[in-house]
Amino acid sequence: MKAARMVGVGKPLEIQEVPRPVIDEDDERDDIQAIVQVKACGICGTDLHQLRGTAKVPRLPLTLGHEISGVVTDVGRAVKSGRMMVPAFKQGDRVAVNNVISCGECRPCRRGKYNFCRNALMFGRHIDGGLAEYVKVPARNLSHLPDNVGFSEGAILGCAVVTAYHALRIARIGPGDMVAVWGTGGVGLSLVQMARELSAAYPIIAVDKRKETLRLASDFGADVTLNTGEVDPVAAIRELTDGEGADCVFDAAGVKDLTPEGELVTLGSVCSGGQLIVIATYGAPVTVEPHDELGIFEKKFTGSCGNLPDELDYLIRVVAGRRRLNIERLITQRIQVEQVNPIIADWQAGNKLVIKPVVIF
Ligand SMILES: [Zn+2]
Ligand SMILES: [Zn+2]
Repeated sequence: MKAARMVGVGKPLEIQEVPRPVIDEDDERDDIQAIVQVKACGICGTDLHQLRGTAKVPRLPLTLGHEISGVVTDVGRAVKSGRMMVPAFKQGDRVAVNNVISCGECRPCRRGKYNFCRNALMFGRHIDGGLAEYVKVPARNLSHLPDNVGFSEGAILGCAVVTAYHALRIARIGPGDMVAVWGTGGVGLSLVQMARELSAAYPIIAVDKRKETLRLASDFGADVTLNTGEVDPVAAIRELTDGEGADCVFDAAGVKDLTPEGELVTLGSVCSGGQLIVIATYGAPVTVEPHDELGIFEKKFTGSCGNLPDELDYLIRVVAGRRRLNIERLITQRIQVEQVNPIIADWQAGNKLVIKPVVIF
């Protein structure tokens, strides 16, 4: 089968012919596995980090891709029968893939905190991923995808969108809360939609330096958009919130682009008693004055990491139920696997508006 493989840091992906994964009846480890024929696989900022070397990949060559949806073509014995607490899936089932395999044994896993699993394996990072015609996946990493949710949507629900949803759950915001979202990439745009449709926050303020994504943020329900090239976003957020700052600020910016290096500027846009939730990757340390910011003003400063398995199931139900989460519009390119390198190059160079490119198989 065809697979897009990372062969080295700084090198383009190679489209290689590799053996197709199969269920080995003689290997009992395969009892809990399923083979998925990949229909769509998203490309992600994380893939770019891996290719650049800013996120480590333990073994090469490796098939990239962790935003996967497709159709089940074969299953192991336990999956067939639904025994040993293995969820039942069968040939022909449409599925989306939870992209991290947790061990179920370590202390975080035993406490249900699967996103902190100490032995986590991520598709396309530790094990072969979904930029290939087929991928082998433990059945408990699969979620059923209803017929009215497209494969491309299913693929990106499993990463950018569910990452945003996990952050939203940590935030516990609701009606009456004022929200600011810094960064309008896949995660930020998802947060704008969810803060509106699932939490009924008002106003929702979106911050970025890119006009095109700010326009999308407006379409997705941001009440105000702030361009960092035109205004001081912290001052503007304060002005829009009675001089106080937002109750909840999501930092999904990859902030170096938006704020001066070394400063956690986003914390300045949080009101007293409010919270800052960081989802973005900072390339370098930032300073915070703990007594002034956190002590005197009781600001909470926390982060959000990955997602929990039930959160993907929930989101799929929400999208299938036609709540107004517009996942489709996050997809900026639908491409063949042969076009992955040009799109990655455009993304890195900033030549083109790229939010979520999806490879269609
Ligand atoms: Zn991703
Ligand atoms: Zn674990």
